[in-house]
Amino acid sequence: MLELLWLLLPVAAASGWWAAKRERTDQDRIHAVHADRFKGLNYLLDERPDELIEAFVRAVEVDRDTADTHLALGSLFRRRGEVDRAISIHSNLIARNSLSTEQRSRAVLELGEDYMRAGLFDRAETLFRELVGQPDHTAVALARLVGIYEQEKDWQEAIEYGDHLEKLTGQSRKVETAQFCCELAEQAWQQRDAQAARAFLLQALGRDPRCVRASMLQGDIALAEGEYASAITAYQTIERQNRSYLPEIVPQLEHCYAALGRPWAVIDYLRGVHAHDHSGRLTDLLANLLISQQGEEPARLFLEDELRSFPTLSGLRRLVELKLARSESTNSDLHALYRISQHMLDDAARYQCDKCGFVGKSLHWCCPGCKSWGSIKGLPDVVFKKSSLE
Ligand SMILES: [Zn+2]
Repeated sequence: MLELLWLLLPVAAASGWWAAKRERTDQDRIHAVHADRFKGLNYLLDERPDELIEAFVRAVEVDRDTADTHLALGSLFRRRGEVDRAISIHSNLIARNSLSTEQRSRAVLELGEDYMRAGLFDRAETLFRELVGQPDHTAVALARLVGIYEQEKDWQEAIEYGDHLEKLTGQSRKVETAQFCCELAEQAWQQRDAQAARAFLLQALGRDPRCVRASMLQGDIALAEGEYASAITAYQTIERQNRSYLPEIVPQLEHCYAALGRPWAVIDYLRGVHAHDHSGRLTDLLANLLISQQGEEPARLFLEDELRSFPTLSGLRRLVELKLARSESTNSDLHALYRISQHMLDDAARYQCDKCGFVGKSLHWCCPGCKSWGSIKGLPDVVFKKSSLE
């Protein structure tokens, strides 16, 4: 900050000289400029940098020569979190007729960023819509508009502008726009409009065939409508899209197979998946199903065999639990082991963002850390990063 002020000092001095050189006949104005300049020097001597910058902004008239300095100052205020000051400087710039077209566009862009930062999305939207027509700023304006519509949950607009941006830049936005379709499907489903919800989900899968959320919602809707075979087909699609999400839908799959009178089929299916996916969560869920359908002994044998080759904390916790229940043991070592593994699992993250590394216990379709869509995946067993746990 101090470096900037030393830079501003000669600029402010030069601007005073320059202002005088313009031979204004309006004596009051000249006096005001000089008064502001000397006030600015006093602020510097008193180590009051904010007032110094204010004095600078007042003393230096906005025109084509000084617009860049005003833009830089406005941006500096925003970065410092002083959004009101940034808005004041950028609004002042836009109000002038003396700027070039490019300078005015940059001021509009900066003011839009100020409004975004201040949470004034309707005002930012107006400015970014204006900028869409400026070729040098179209891409950033479209990206900001998509962000605004995401914030406002206006998913139709977010899709429209996302498509526009994709066309302009050539960079795929299909993962995001598929998620926006899922948002629309959820809204429709909340209003019990299954037909509309299904149409949005087909759109989502058309955009991104690997959209797990769309398949999950297709399964949920079919399950709620009593279409169990269709629900199973939708849920099992997730295995091909991204297996790390499968543990999410095991209870629903169990429900569907039970409703069709084939409860064991869920175990057969998961055994097939488990043959090439030995994640702790899947091991634990399979053991649980074995306990409820076949009893503790098959579950214990399964876990002992599994943990020999693929040790996981979730599997270990379940095996210890079984051993304790079976022997009604007072073995303090086993009890301690169970408590420790339970405690570790309670504190563990279940999900991680593959873009920013954010870890948490809940599944989010939009990462709370980096705002990426569809980037949070299920972790195979446990990961400890307590400092960043949600
Ligand atoms: Zn992230």
